[in-house]
Amino acid sequence: MSHQYQLIVIGAGPGGYVAAIRGAQLGMKVAIVEKLKTLGGTCLNWGCIPSKALLDSSEHYHQATKKFAIHGIQTTGLSVDIKQMMKRKQDVVDNTTAGIDFLMKKNNIERIEGIGSLKDAHTVTIQNEKETHSITADNILIATGSEVTPLPTVPMDGKRIISSTEALSLQEVPKSLIVIGGGVIGVELGSVYARLGTDVTIVEYMDGLIPTMDKELGKTLLRSMKKLGVTCKFNTKVVEAKTASKSVTLKAETKKGDITLEAEYVLVAIGRRPYTDALNLEAVDIQTDSRGRISVNKNFQTSCPSIYAIGDVIAGPMLAHKASEEGVACVEIMAGKAGHLNYHTIPGVVYTWPEVASVGYTEEELQENNREYNCGKFTFKASGRARAS
Ligand code: FAD
Ligand code: NAD
Repeated sequence: MSHQYQLIVIGAGPGGYVAAIRGAQLGMKVAIVEKLKTLGGTCLNWGCIPSKALLDSSEHYHQATKKFAIHGIQTTGLSVDIKQMMKRKQDVVDNTTAGIDFLMKKNNIERIEGIGSLKDAHTVTIQNEKETHSITADNILIATGSEVTPLPTVPMDGKRIISSTEALSLQEVPKSLIVIGGGVIGVELGSVYARLGTDVTIVEYMDGLIPTMDKELGKTLLRSMKKLGVTCKFNTKVVEAKTASKSVTLKAETKKGDITLEAEYVLVAIGRRPYTDALNLEAVDIQTDSRGRISVNKNFQTSCPSIYAIGDVIAGPMLAHKASEEGVACVEIMAGKAGHLNYHTIPGVVYTWPEVASVGYTEEELQENNREYNCGKFTFKASGRARAS
């Protein structure tokens, strides 16, 4: 039976839109289904791009208030116009998402707005404000990404207890902010507000910052965060939250007993979980693992052979470039080519100051696996170029 398309992609984040482009480049007739009005997914709309825009703006302010004088540049009367800062961030987002619209048109990819769900192994049903209709394809690619993991003891209300999405659009600089989770979002968005003058406290369950990276990186980053005025509390578990009109009080358990913390805002940043709502995976008997991630084989194929999955919705690091690379490899495999991805070459970068970067195994992983290794170190300060900057 012939189908309308060779490929339907569900979800237009960095996994989905890159896969769609690769499909079109390989001569496939491609449709991309996205429930939002803008393309680009989490990364472009409320993830990588807006957070990097605010990291940039806040770093300028921090430099001007704390670092310019040492360069012999005097400034007076500096202040933050948070509304303008957020407007610039939104302009960056809008320009970037519009760029994806252009790429879809340029590659003759049909963009369909609506919520996509699976009807059978070759059919996607799309529901939008106007209608519900179905389209068919030889292959379907799920790239529906992830959503914020909630913390049951600290329910988010989007006003005082917020996720990264709201933290990227605050219309005031908070006097105080507690961040639950000392992972990537915790240190990046914690840095943004600390630079703008907020009293930031990071509460982390484990014994250091960015605990999935080398321990030494977390320790070094802690020194920078302390210099920025950020307080970090480790081995601390928040067990209760009470919200008042302009503040939140948290109760937390530590090794030394219970503590109480209070701030104007609480940001919950304890990770993200795969997003498969509305996909109707049961219709085609697609399996997920214990963490709700869609199970795929090495060719990104689900338990239904014509349906594939990539990006945050499957296992692996939740990173935009990982999703894009999987998109390219997956579509190349569909086209009978030798698509391939080496997971040990995916870099991770934390956009604090200084930035943290890693690739491959951590030192702790090598030790756990009894692998021989050499450790080389070079201090940044010993580089004349670094000292000059
Ligand atoms: P997503 O980008 O989540 O895209 C999924 C898309 O599918 C969404 O547009 C969604 O609306 C759509 N969708 C879902 N279900 C349906 C459906 N049924 N029908 C139609 N459409 C549907 N990563 C980095 O590499 N670098 C960074 O600096 C970075 N910063 C980040 C900062 C923040 C604050 C956050 C939250 C994340 C950040 N990430 C970063 C992670 C990155 O955003 C994700 O790894 C990446 O977006 C995953 O891409 P994806 O295509 O798998 O999914
Ligand atoms: P994360 O996994 O990086 O960090 C979550 C942190 O929360 C961990 O350190 C964990 O130990 C801690 N935690 C978990 N439960 C807790 C609890 N109950 N109390 C206190 N701490 C708790 O997740 P994130 O920071 O939310 O980011 C989500 C995803 O987005 C990540 O997978 C990350 O890869 C991606 N991201 C990437 C970048 C980047 O590449 N620069 C930036 C932002 C986000």
